[in-house]
Amino acid sequence: MEKYYDVIVVGGGMAGLSSAYALRNSVDSILVCDQYGVGNTFGSSSGRTRMFREMYSSAYYSQAAKFSNVLWKSQERLCGKRLRVPHGLLFYGEDWGEETIEGSICAAKEVMQKHLIPFESLTAKEISARWPLRTEPRWQGLFEPAAGAVLASEALKFWSDEIVRCGHEIRTETKVISVCDGADVKVTFENGLKALSKRCILAAGPWSKYFLKALGYKVHLQVWQMLWAYYSVETNQLERYPQWFCFQEKLKGDPDQGLYYGFPYMGDRKSDRGLIKIGIDWAPEKLKMSDYYPSKNIKIPRKLLQTLDNFVFAYIEGVKARVETHLCPYTMSPDAGFVLDRLSNNICIFSHDSGQAFKFAPVIGENLKRLVLDEPTLFDVSPWSVSRSSLSL
Ligand SMILES: Cc1cc2nc3c(=O)[nH]c(=O)nc-3n(C[C@H](O)[C@H](O)[C@H](O)COP(=O)(O)OP(=O)(O)OC[C@H]3O[C@@H](n4cnc5c(N)ncnc54)[C@H](O)[C@@H]3O)c2cc1C
Repeated sequence: MEKYYDVIVVGGGMAGLSSAYALRNSVDSILVCDQYGVGNTFGSSSGRTRMFREMYSSAYYSQAAKFSNVLWKSQERLCGKRLRVPHGLLFYGEDWGEETIEGSICAAKEVMQKHLIPFESLTAKEISARWPLRTEPRWQGLFEPAAGAVLASEALKFWSDEIVRCGHEIRTETKVISVCDGADVKVTFENGLKALSKRCILAAGPWSKYFLKALGYKVHLQVWQMLWAYYSVETNQLERYPQWFCFQEKLKGDPDQGLYYGFPYMGDRKSDRGLIKIGIDWAPEKLKMSDYYPSKNIKIPRKLLQTLDNFVFAYIEGVKARVETHLCPYTMSPDAGFVLDRLSNNICIFSHDSGQAFKFAPVIGENLKRLVLDEPTLFDVSPWSVSRSSLSL
């Protein structure tokens, strides 16, 4: 006989775990299932760190991030240790009146002014004097001191431990092959077993299209394979790097799209060898896909690696060598926004994370919880609707 759960959550990444965590004391039985494992390297939530910030060009995202920071704080209190490190974030580079997927310096400044989010404005000279970053004379900067890094793997562990401690189930190596809507939701696993639930949350990350299609939703969704690398640096510079995004105007079609980011030294296992993490914040056409079939053997285009190295050696002081490279997927929507919505009476979804959702984990989890329990959401989530026009095919 099929086992019955109050809620079945498909996906053990950030969204699946944060929603099960939010639900843990509100329902009797939750099953979280993941085809691989919690925070596996084929999905979007692997790795030690993600940035958090309120420095957004969109007041909506900035306010959602503020909300999220309040919830992160209460999770940290419960956890008994920090899940974020607040070392600040620098936006620097050019402003050319256009928005990138991370926003722009000018528009973010306006939002921060309006919403009284503390920041510092910096000239190119001030940036280069304060950090080991080379700048062009026309560049400018914006520094948000309260921003920083989420300890992503610590957060996943905290949510999983809490979910299990409250008597719920997390099943790894458990692939869902179908989710059938009805009076109850019937979930079928690859091994032929089935489970029933009153409600279901789909949090399948780069695999979301599979479920959206099966439930009759045809929406724009692309998976971008994102490149990042560890670089060795001179020991005397190691502690001086900030967390940063660099914005540069480039022509459409230029193999260098000009948007890069980097983390400071965070005293982790890798950095014990004096390594810092730097990544590219766009994907070339070759690494964009409409259906996601993960493979350990995807070749990183040599030209893209060269482009990253060119930027790093030209603009970051003290870098010695690239020692490790990684590709990690995220799910991009045409407006760089999320989908957090109800697909039917019994099925809710988070998808289209657009490479920026980890910092919002507590509000994503809490809003998914409220949607499945038919309670009012924390704030208006209609901008994350699955039926908004920018997603229609
Ligand atoms: C390189 C990179 C840098 C990023 N930087 C930042 C940042 O600085 N700040 C920030 O806030 N965000 C950042 N993000 C985004 C953030 O990491 C993602 O938004 C977040 O991790 C998405 O989580 P998710 O749960 O939606 O997806 P995932 O983590 O991919 O989870 C989906 C899970 O569903 C499982 N699954 C899928 N299909 C099935 C099935 N059929 N059966 C069972 N299980 C299934 C998968 O195995 C997977 O574990 C970054 C992302 C990347 C890739």
